[in-house]
This record gives sequence, C-alpha cells and structure tokens, in this order.
Amino acid sequence: MLAYTYLAKGEFGLIEKPKPELLDEKDALVRVTLASICTSDLHIKHGAVPRAVPGITVGHEMVGVVEAVGKAVSKVKPGDRVAVNVETFCGECFFCRHGYVNNCTDENGGWALGCRIDGGQAEYVRVPYADQGLTVIPDGVSFEQALFVGDILATGFWAVRISEIKEEDTVLILGAGPTGICTLLCAMLKNPRKIIVCETDPDRLAFVKKHYPDVVTAAPEQLEKAIEEICPNGGADVVLEMAGGKDSFQMAWQYARPNATVTIVALYEENQVLPLPEMYGKNLTFKTGGVDGCDCEEILRLIAEGRIDTMPLITHVYPLEKIEEAYALFEGRKDKVIKVAVRCADE
Ligand SMILES: [Zn+2]
Ligand SMILES: [Zn+2]
Repeated sequence: MLAYTYLAKGEFGLIEKPKPELLDEKDALVRVTLASICTSDLHIKHGAVPRAVPGITVGHEMVGVVEAVGKAVSKVKPGDRVAVNVETFCGECFFCRHGYVNNCTDENGGWALGCRIDGGQAEYVRVPYADQGLTVIPDGVSFEQALFVGDILATGFWAVRISEIKEEDTVLILGAGPTGICTLLCAMLKNPRKIIVCETDPDRLAFVKKHYPDVVTAAPEQLEKAIEEICPNGGADVVLEMAGGKDSFQMAWQYARPNATVTIVALYEENQVLPLPEMYGKNLTFKTGGVDGCDCEEILRLIAEGRIDTMPLITHVYPLEKIEEAYALFEGRKDKVIKVAVRCADE
C-alpha cells in the first residue's frame, strides 16, 4: 500500500509499504477513506518533534472503515465507519480513569499515531486500543463531516471544556488557524456574551468574518481598542491562546481581566516568559497543555445534530497520490487554504 512516510529530517516521501496487520488483541485495522494534514505533521518534518521516529507513516487525523479487529475489541466491528482518535490510551491507568488520556502511562500513550507508530496518511492504519481509539460515526454524518473529530476538533472541544465558559463571559480566542476555528465553533456552543477572535493573517480573519458574522474579529494591532470597547472590566473573562506566535503568550495574559481564566493550548517553538511580578495581583488562573481526546462520541453527536459544522474548513481535496502537492499547498498557506482532505482508500 502507499504510505506517506517520515524519511529523514526535512524529508517526507510517498512509498510502498506492506499493509499493516493486527499485532495485539485490542488492535483494529482501518481502511483510511480520508486523512488530513495537521500543522504537527509539519513540526515532525522540520525535526521539531524529537519523539518522532524516522520511517513511520505520518498522519494522525483520519476517518475510515474498520477492516478487522482483534478478539478483545468490543465497541467496533468490521464495516463500521469510524473516526480515529489522535491519542492512544489504554482506558485503565490512573490518568485514563480520570479523563486525562493525554497522559496515559502505556508505552504508546498520548500522541503515538503518525509520530512514534505508523499513522494514517496511507491506505490502511493499525489502531491500538481500538475500543478507546475509534468512535463510530453516526448514520447521516459523512466522512468529511467527521474528519476533524479525533484531533483539531477534539482539541477545541477540550480547550473550551477546561475553560469553563459561562453565558455572561466575553471570550478572546488568539489564533484563527484550523484549531482556533474549531475552538471558536465549540466556544459558540456555550453562548457567551461575545467572542473576539484575534489573528494576524487577513485571509483567516476574512474567513471568520464570512462564516461567523456574530464574532468580533481583530488584527493584533486592533485588539486593544476592541477589548476596551467590548470588555467592561479591563479584559476578557476567558482567553484561549491557540496561536503559538512570538507575542501571543504575552497577549493572552495581558488581555485577560483580573481573575480571568487563561487557557494555553498553543505549541510554542521556544520557552515563554511568565512575568510573575508584572502580573502580581491580577490573580489569573492558567490552564495549559495538550488535548485529552476523550469526548469524540459527544462531538460526533453534536455534528449529527447540526450544532458543529467543520465542512467550511475543508478548502482543498487531493488524492493520496498527490499528497506532495497537498503538503506544498498547506505548508505554503497558498490559495487561502484552511485544511486539506486527502482521499486515501475507497469508501
Ligand atoms: Zn494534529
Ligand atoms: Zn491509560
């Protein structure tokens, strides 16, 4: 089968590999109908993910059809249409039992697919702990609609959940990349008083303006004025930092009102400064980290009910054979791309 592979630092290639097999009784084999490219794939390509193992098939955001399951798998069966979770988790350790599945203590716990073990930019993928790692896509929800459930949508949903947004809140989201937009969609479910999205890229701001007209959009240089006009208490009640830019961490706490919650989900390439003397008395609550992707069933239910719609994010579709072109487009942010769907195997 064809598999897009991390060959060496700076180099991915589409190569022929044997079709994966079940290695454990809790594994499933999934025929990948659609995969997507994530910014984290680019981080691997550029050598910024030291855990990534050269030779692995990349890709950790995909949907497909179950082809085979091990004998200990009970929640999915061959023929089921499924969303694949970015995270591998056992469901039994201390962290899994508390919903902190990102910290699963299994040797492949956390983000393994497409990083430390073969992922899904390929015709087939082996999914360990299939009862946890796969969620059946409800009838009436298409593969396209479910494509982001296991990764960027799970991230947005989790970020909003831990931010404890209330209806009287004004929410500031920094960054309107794909994950920022998914976060926006999930924040909208909480009906806050106002949502402000701040983003440097004018195309992305225009995308938000076009699809979500109730949201206030601002470039960084406009943000101070927007906050002054909208927030009566000197800042946002909840800030979600999804940008990971040079100044965005500082913006996140500066534009928060005293006693606000600041949720940091962005992945930075450098250490950030936490200037505690400057923020003394501001009494902020910081929440940080990587997604606990354990709400996929609820997210799929919300999609089925028409309450979350990520279809506008799929701006481009490519066949697996042309994945190099898809990467060039995504990496170069050409043609107003938000997300690329890659057709890997037949439905
Ligand atoms: Zn990702
Ligand atoms: Zn676990």
